[in-house]
Amino acid sequence: MIIAVSGTPGVGKTTVSKLLSERLGYEYVSVKDFALMKGIGEPVGDEIEIDVDALAREVKAEFSARNVVIDGHLSHLVPADVVVVLRLHPRAVAERLKSRGYSRKKLAENVEAELVDVILVEALEKNKRVLEVDTTDKTPDEVVDEILTLLEEGVKRRVGVVDWTEAYDDVLEYLMLGGD
Ligand code: ADP
Ligand code: MG
Repeated sequence: MIIAVSGTPGVGKTTVSKLLSERLGYEYVSVKDFALMKGIGEPVGDEIEIDVDALAREVKAEFSARNVVIDGHLSHLVPADVVVVLRLHPRAVAERLKSRGYSRKKLAENVEAELVDVILVEALEKNKRVLEVDTTDKTPDEVVDEILTLLEEGVKRRVGVVDWTEAYDDVLEYLMLGGD
């Protein structure tokens, strides 16, 4: 079984994926490392540009008969059995990315993406089985417990657990809304 864990940068994908893979006894795979290993990720500045079609092909070839948790903000675009989309209040996203030293532009892009559910919407376009989990004010263990419960219950789709329309005011200082 392939479990993809996706979400806006900073929501806790890597932390949760590692813990989830340990709890399930699955392999842990980072999209970024996997893409570099397969030669389908190109370093561009301080980021990696990944050929998403090639990524989907390679993931299918390599993991369709294995049990893996795939971590990365592109993981919802691979052929997974289930996609977990982690959500986090945009204010907390901003604070985490700020402490990571993101530029003002990258900070704005990602806070805006979280505000308007970009990854959730993409995940729903690509995959039938999507589990949305709000991580706000939860420990990584609590998040993993929630994911395991949803998996055990065989829940096919669980979305609509957050609504950031009221969160704009809390992150106005970080937004660029299309301008520079
Ligand atoms: P991502 O992989 O989505 O970019 P990380 O797992 O690297 O996110 O987490 C970003 C930061 O937030 C890290 O410093 C991590 O320790 C912290 N973090 C992750 N999950 C939680 C959580 N549930 N509660 C508090 N801090 C968390
Ligand atoms: Mg990560």
